[in-house]
Amino acid sequence: MELIGNDKVGILSEKFDVKQLARDIATNKDLQLNDSSFMVVSIDKIIERFQLWKQQLPMIEPFYAVKCNTDPVLVRILATLGCGFDCASREEIDIVMNTGVTADRLIYANPCKTRSFIAHAMQRDVRMMTFDNAEELVKVAKLHPNAEMILRIAVSDPTATCPLNLKFGCDPVLVAPQLLKKAYDEGVNVVGISFHVGSGCNDATAYKVALQHAKNLCEIGEGFGFKMDIIDMGGGFPGSEHKNSFENIAQVIREAIDEFFPDTEKRLIAEPGRFFAAAPFSLVANIIHATEVPASKITKNEKDGGDSGYMYYINDGVYGSFNCILFDHVHPTGGPLFDQDSDQKFVSTIWGPTCDSLDLVEDKKMMCKLQVGDWMYYPDMGAYTIAASTTFNGFARPSMIYVMTENVWNSKIKDSRHI
Ligand SMILES: *Cc1c(COP(=O)(O)O)cnc(C)c1O
Repeated sequence: MELIGNDKVGILSEKFDVKQLARDIATNKDLQLNDSSFMVVSIDKIIERFQLWKQQLPMIEPFYAVKCNTDPVLVRILATLGCGFDCASREEIDIVMNTGVTADRLIYANPCKTRSFIAHAMQRDVRMMTFDNAEELVKVAKLHPNAEMILRIAVSDPTATCPLNLKFGCDPVLVAPQLLKKAYDEGVNVVGISFHVGSGCNDATAYKVALQHAKNLCEIGEGFGFKMDIIDMGGGFPGSEHKNSFENIAQVIREAIDEFFPDTEKRLIAEPGRFFAAAPFSLVANIIHATEVPASKITKNEKDGGDSGYMYYINDGVYGSFNCILFDHVHPTGGPLFDQDSDQKFVSTIWGPTCDSLDLVEDKKMMCKLQVGDWMYYPDMGAYTIAASTTFNGFARPSMIYVMTENVWNSKIKDSRHI
């Protein structure tokens, strides 16, 4: 056991399988006393994701989007690896800087900032920040004379799971050049262009289109005397297996950089959120109740009336980690933590624990029969899950169990000042 911040981390002598580890933990619980849900957090996996980024996009500095998951160990490990951070509020700035990350490794990437937070950023000397409207320039001119502004343009993959451009980003052709002029008139320093193609991007060409606009706008900005040396590619990178793989997106981006910014001296950055946060967190929830029902109650199909179905109630739901079903438009799929003896499958519903019928985790799922006290396992549960979870109805958040292998601890983490 070692400490990262205030959190205990289990150090294992050998490489481990997360699901097997979850089984060992579950087996050792006395369910009469403690059947609470938990997450296994693999720090090796965080490091693996960081290395994958460095391998595929070595020319782009990642600034982890903290809103995705503010877990203190995740933040400290990324800080140790040299990651930058994308913060959107005073609180997020403080979370990151209080682990010892310096202001030059932060971007305040919220185009519509609270005035007192701008003053706070000024005080802590956070300079890089985004804007997409003239009113924000007026606010910043008054409150933060050292700000280094990055103009956010709207370039969207309309098929992304969570498009963001309804709310943020200006039109790259009609509006962006006017905002560069406005910044010049207000005496605000602009240093680059940013975009976010949408979280859960499905169409990698959106990055290429955005980079082409960024190139044009850099030239326009340079015409006003701005240095325009930062290109911020935002987020949208998948957190796990996805029909548009990270490798594919990375290739499109590398080619677009070669085309639009050859031999560039520019500083290339991005703000991946789910790319780092999703895969390292696996949720294990307990079945606190199981009821046999006619299959037709679940399938709404009269003809299924003779067969049995099952309704299970687990101790995490949409008011907890599974809020991602509502807010992040994803459908997590889990399965029994332990292999079952019988292959026979029944139509099943997995409910969350609260007294709200909205609290539905998985519907009409074909699954073998489980009992009260059995465990369900959900991988890839780190992105946009705990960050927006509540304890509604008195159901606690899962506890975090952090693990890593000994040689990774010794070689990469132990001596970091962020630990
Ligand atoms: C949410 C957000 C991100 C992270 O998006 P992912 O799709 O999780 O990578 C990055 N930048 C900004 C400005 C965001 O709002």
